[in-house]
Amino acid sequence: MQNKGLFRPTWVEIDLAALEHNFKQIKKLVGNKAKVLCVVKADAYGHGMVEVSKKLVKCGADYFGVASIDEAIKLRKSGIKLPILILELIPDEHAGSIVDYNLTQGISTEKLAQSLNNYARKKGKIAKVHIKIDTGMGRLGVWHEGALELVKKIKKLKNIKIEGIYTHFPCADTDRFFTNHQVRNFDTLIKRLNKNNIDIPFRHCANSVGVIDYKCSHLNLVRPGLMLYGIYPKENLRPKIELQPVMSFKTKVLFTKKIPQGRTVSYGRTYIARRPTSIATLPVGYSDGYLRVLSNKAEVLIKGARRKIAGRICMDQSMVDLNNLKNVSIGDEVVLVGKQGKEKITLEELASLAGTISYELACSIGKNNSNRLFKNT
Ligand SMILES: *Cc1c(COP(=O)(O)O)cnc(C)c1O
Repeated sequence: MQNKGLFRPTWVEIDLAALEHNFKQIKKLVGNKAKVLCVVKADAYGHGMVEVSKKLVKCGADYFGVASIDEAIKLRKSGIKLPILILELIPDEHAGSIVDYNLTQGISTEKLAQSLNNYARKKGKIAKVHIKIDTGMGRLGVWHEGALELVKKIKKLKNIKIEGIYTHFPCADTDRFFTNHQVRNFDTLIKRLNKNNIDIPFRHCANSVGVIDYKCSHLNLVRPGLMLYGIYPKENLRPKIELQPVMSFKTKVLFTKKIPQGRTVSYGRTYIARRPTSIATLPVGYSDGYLRVLSNKAEVLIKGARRKIAGRICMDQSMVDLNNLKNVSIGDEVVLVGKQGKEKITLEELASLAGTISYELACSIGKNNSNRLFKNT
């Protein structure tokens, strides 16, 4: 699993105690009215799905959410017994796996429900589904206006249990009016279902922003992802909840040297020494998920001080302008994301510099660094 080898000092640290802290913060916000479905898709946003999920079971998670059958099977094979919802659609021909592994499928069509029903009937089992409602995401799901008809049809299938119904927010972080409108349309649908004597146990719509900023969206199940990992979906939500970052990204100084004035560093010669300085070369680059657009922008922590990346980030290496920082030695620890002394660098800070979102950066670093160290302090 070590993609760059055991001997390359670049690694990701996962703080499972911080994960527990964040989970408890979520419980505090939602109270005992709503259960918590922990979203662990994309290898738990790059944090390591199996280890993260095992910890969340101990913390009291109620449900897991993943994107694919493969992820769900991996969880089952690692011994996870809690219910698992596949948030994405699956090709009809794989309906059997949902039944065989006792998974719950998000459903947008009658056809997939029929495939599940047929397989479940053959096996003498019941397939659990959550109906996905589109109230504005425009991706999966049945439009809320037509949902009653679909639910009625699926309800007739004897080997299907409609355990849940859910919708998703495309812009809870930017558009309060639209998001409230989605919640209202979803509520209206649930009332219409009730009038038709259809009572669906789990009703859910809250992603992380919903959990933090839309109490009206909690209903009786919430679906946080990002915030579990201690990442804020939006800077101005910081005062509303105290989260602790779970992922750190670290490396060690591989080499140092003096750079006379006027010399340049790295490909494209985009960094020119305006004065004599020193650089440290680090064994980390864009193949580790340290995005190349961070060239000449990102800072790292070294001896407790912030220092900037000098020149282009290479495939496996990067240089740092030490700028008068004394006594830097080969082997000194360098923090790319995380804390050192009084300073810290967050995924949010780097994502913003890179012109992307912290979700993508976390996935990118996680995916490219199987060299993970799990801490539980
Ligand atoms: C990924 C996902 C979530 C979690 O969203 P966060 O913003 O990470 O909290 C919730 N619901 C669905 C359907 C998702 O795909």
